[in-house]
Amino acid sequence: MSSSQHAQTSSDTGFSSADSEADIAVIGAGIIGAACALELSRCGLRVLMLDRDPPGRGASYGNAGHMATEQVFPIADASLLKRIPGMLLDPLGALRLDWRYLPTITPWLCRLLWNLRPEPYRHSTKGLQALNEASLPAWRELLDSIGQGELLRDEGSLLVHERNDTKDELAAVAVRMQKQGVPVESLPREEVLRRAPGLTEAVRGGLFFPDTGHVTDPHFLVKALMEAAEQAGARFVQADVSNGRTVNGGVRLETSRGALAVPRVLVAGGAHSAPLVAALTGTTVPLDTERGYHLMLPRETERLPLAVTSLERRFIMTPMDKGLRLAGTVEFAGLERPARMQRARQLLELAQGLFAQPLDDDDASPWMGFRPSLPDSLPVIDRAGPEGRVLLAFGHHHLGLTQAAITARLVASFVADDSFALSTPSVPSDSAFTGSVSRAVRDTALPSLAPYRLGRFA
Ligand SMILES: Cc1cc2nc3c(=O)[nH]c(=O)nc-3n(C[C@H](O)[C@H](O)[C@H](O)COP(=O)(O)OP(=O)(O)OC[C@H]3O[C@@H](n4cnc5c(N)ncnc54)[C@H](O)[C@@H]3O)c2cc1C
Repeated sequence: MSSSQHAQTSSDTGFSSADSEADIAVIGAGIIGAACALELSRCGLRVLMLDRDPPGRGASYGNAGHMATEQVFPIADASLLKRIPGMLLDPLGALRLDWRYLPTITPWLCRLLWNLRPEPYRHSTKGLQALNEASLPAWRELLDSIGQGELLRDEGSLLVHERNDTKDELAAVAVRMQKQGVPVESLPREEVLRRAPGLTEAVRGGLFFPDTGHVTDPHFLVKALMEAAEQAGARFVQADVSNGRTVNGGVRLETSRGALAVPRVLVAGGAHSAPLVAALTGTTVPLDTERGYHLMLPRETERLPLAVTSLERRFIMTPMDKGLRLAGTVEFAGLERPARMQRARQLLELAQGLFAQPLDDDDASPWMGFRPSLPDSLPVIDRAGPEGRVLLAFGHHHLGLTQAAITARLVASFVADDSFALSTPSVPSDSAFTGSVSRAVRDTALPSLAPYRLGRFA
């Protein structure tokens, strides 16, 4: 049964007995929760997925689809600081701060600045790079295993520049990447235009990142993972989880369908994770959101063969099955304030300047989503709470799509830990739970979990 059917047919009050027998409840059916649910199901766990919305309607719905493995540096660096005032004043700028949100975001911004010191910056870079280097192979294997390999185009991506005075900036990016061991090739204008023929001759050159790629439909990707998880035995129920607490031998969740007791949970609620993490672990995480926008151009299905980012205009254009997606911008305005869809429409103005022929914006649709961002640019991937019953996978900021498959492997690797089985006294003897991890998880040299521990915020 598909996830949407489950959502429709599940009773509006309470949970079925099969739901209540789950070994683990995964809260959040975005790209992270869906990939984790699939890997955990493959370990033999009975997985119950909970989301207040149908699967894949959060940030994972509208991201740029870029497998951005080249982005190994934290979200801010010292050089960006100088440019921030100009960016904030530019109405087409990539950065916007809702000034009413300034008091709320200030502590987060202070922590972001604190993390620009050389040692934390190096630490975050190392943590990001470890995940990114493992990301594309993990995705390739996961997608091939569910027969959806064609969703991933791992043929690289371009970063282009247009102005003479940004030549040095582009060269500096290349040097920085090379020093960090990120594969990158510098391309002259002719080569950029050969690879992306629709671009304007005003483009002066670019960088090609061979070990990157894009997915052709991020929303469909979540749905495909959910379907595969369901085929592996997982169940989806649409429910809002309003609270939770650890109790003797398990976790009790308060939901819009009533209370639910399960042996353990995985919090994968994206930008909405913090209250549940606090309730279940006692740790307050400095999770905030960098809101981002996209504009989908459904008539532009043939314009680009690969994802192209503009150095000066600071946004990305990704070719997808349903059109060309223009995406980017960072807006600090929290989870509650309404979207400013003019920011999505501004992306069209930015994109028009990059093509030789005007883009067709008929039926263009704008969208806004919440990137889940922690001030050290690293996600939380961990086990916490009594007997490690609370699993955590959230805070992937600009890289949640890129890092979802490897995150899911790391989460599944917890199952191999002896304490995982021991903490499941309520699992009935006829459970399919084997305590064994899938071959993909077992055979992969996984990144160390040390940089992603919750304890760094305790
Ligand atoms: C404009 C934009 C462009 C981006 N481009 C890229 C890109 O090119 N490459 C890349 O790697 N990343 C990109 N990202 C980032 C990426 O989209 C996110 O990091 C990723 O989607 C986060 O996935 P998630 O599953 O953690 O969160 P989400 O997709 O937001 O899913 C969380 C889910 O949890 C549910 N939920 C939360 N709390 C509860 C609760 N209490 N009860 C029930 N349900 C709950 C929500 O309803 C939601 O469905 C982009 C983001 C944006 C906004």
